[in-house]
Amino acid sequence: MELIVEDAVFVTMEAGAGPAESMLIRDDRIAAIGPAETVHAAADGADVVRLGGATVLPGLIDAHCHVADVGYLAAAADCGQPSAPGIAAIQARLRDAAGRTPEGSWVTGSGYAEYKLREGRHPTRADLDEAVPDRPAVVYHTSLHACVLNTAALREAGFADGQPDPPGGAFGRDDQGRLDGVVYEAPMFALFEGNLRRDMARMGAAAGVRFVQTAGRRMASLGLTSACDADMRRDSFGAFAEADAGGVLSQRIYGLVVHDQVDWLLGAGLKGRHSGRLATEAVKIWADGGMSSRTAAIHGSYPVPPHGSGILYFERDELTEMVRSFDARGFQVCIHAQGDRAIEAVLDAYAATLPRGAGNPRRHRIEHAGAMYPPLAGRAAALGIVVASQPGFLSALGDGFAAAFPDSRDDLYSFASWQRAGITVAGSSDAPVVSPDPRIGIRDAILRRTGDGRVLGPAECLPARDALAMYTTRAAYACHRENEIGSLAPGKSADFVVLGGNPLETEPEQIPGIEVLATVVGGTPAYQSGEMFPGR
Ligand SMILES: [Zn+2]
Repeated sequence: MELIVEDAVFVTMEAGAGPAESMLIRDDRIAAIGPAETVHAAADGADVVRLGGATVLPGLIDAHCHVADVGYLAAAADCGQPSAPGIAAIQARLRDAAGRTPEGSWVTGSGYAEYKLREGRHPTRADLDEAVPDRPAVVYHTSLHACVLNTAALREAGFADGQPDPPGGAFGRDDQGRLDGVVYEAPMFALFEGNLRRDMARMGAAAGVRFVQTAGRRMASLGLTSACDADMRRDSFGAFAEADAGGVLSQRIYGLVVHDQVDWLLGAGLKGRHSGRLATEAVKIWADGGMSSRTAAIHGSYPVPPHGSGILYFERDELTEMVRSFDARGFQVCIHAQGDRAIEAVLDAYAATLPRGAGNPRRHRIEHAGAMYPPLAGRAAALGIVVASQPGFLSALGDGFAAAFPDSRDDLYSFASWQRAGITVAGSSDAPVVSPDPRIGIRDAILRRTGDGRVLGPAECLPARDALAMYTTRAAYACHRENEIGSLAPGKSADFVVLGGNPLETEPEQIPGIEVLATVVGGTPAYQSGEMFPGR
């Protein structure tokens, strides 16, 4: 099957490539791209699709998101700001949700940030009890590092007043020391996982596939052709594998397998590439908490609640041992680390593992790296560590970061400095923490403007081409796929996106408004707004 795409502006992101007027797709690959005569000469009676001056980019890649969770939370009540400006609005959304939540499932909302709520605080169990008095209800914080439970949910989770904080986590408490319903970190993850698994099990195997499909369709409509799933487990792997077998996987999924699932993965013989669309070659470890939940492990302490200096999940030696053992078994290691104290521990573990002078052949990564200040960035660069980070946090969560890091806020997510130090920085969303829309991430990497309009770290703004590289060539590198995806070049997969405008020539503020006209994965449209590729 052959197809020529032309009458378009091609942004190839291929270093050293000349300007292109035309692109030939043969089966699932790019066969030729360049001047029209050359491309037509290489074709053999191909159909021609004229794009009317639209822009063609390499398919966009999200180097860190939670695909199954995006699908799961798509069904929850929207408690995000500005759509739910205050606690009364959250209560109303929960009342609505209670009406359509089947018996046996918790009434679920998601997406709030307490510092964006009119009240400037977390909702409490009492607030949730007013809306849902008689059955468990939960509202997840936008960071997915905290949540609020009503009284019935606290009871069902086995959390009681007077109970000490659990390992790796904390409970919010009122003036009398009673649980106020807010749960941070480890017990929150356990709750989320438990609810997700229970709802998946209750809804049957098809539900997992549905979550993956819902998320994939949404992501395809945003121009995404590949994604790293940063939370792959036995059951979500099953859902991806089934979706892949059924031909309904919209993206190429590069799985970061949760560290405690690795024995299962190896035992089942499932490490590696399963198809052109599904691979499990990397491991995910969490070193600390989140920035906007103020649980990232930092030196010093937070000036805002819940105060403290964050949560470190593993002792240095333990972390080093894990990295060594996964490295020895051939995995790329990807470690969530946000606070400077956690990043230091991770760099120590990598330094102890990587053979001196041999670089970082498995491309071990740091995920997020929010507070990777200059000396730490220098160490990461010297070790060849790859970073997967989230420009889109700046507009969605940046004001919360500024409050939690008043002295170092201009040094957070310092993309330009990292790049100058020589670090490969891949772009990603961490969805459903924030929107999976890569156009927002590209804009934020350029402008660094928070919700309130301040610019966090003006010296760290990237040129548009570098912002786009984060979501194409550099994200491809972060997944060991730079020879297959990330740019438009002969021999690469025919993964591309057709846009209504060229992000390199658009006012950065307007980039999220550029229309996605089509998203093509391996020569097949995963999304198209019209009939651009008829019969495909
Ligand atoms: Zn994540």
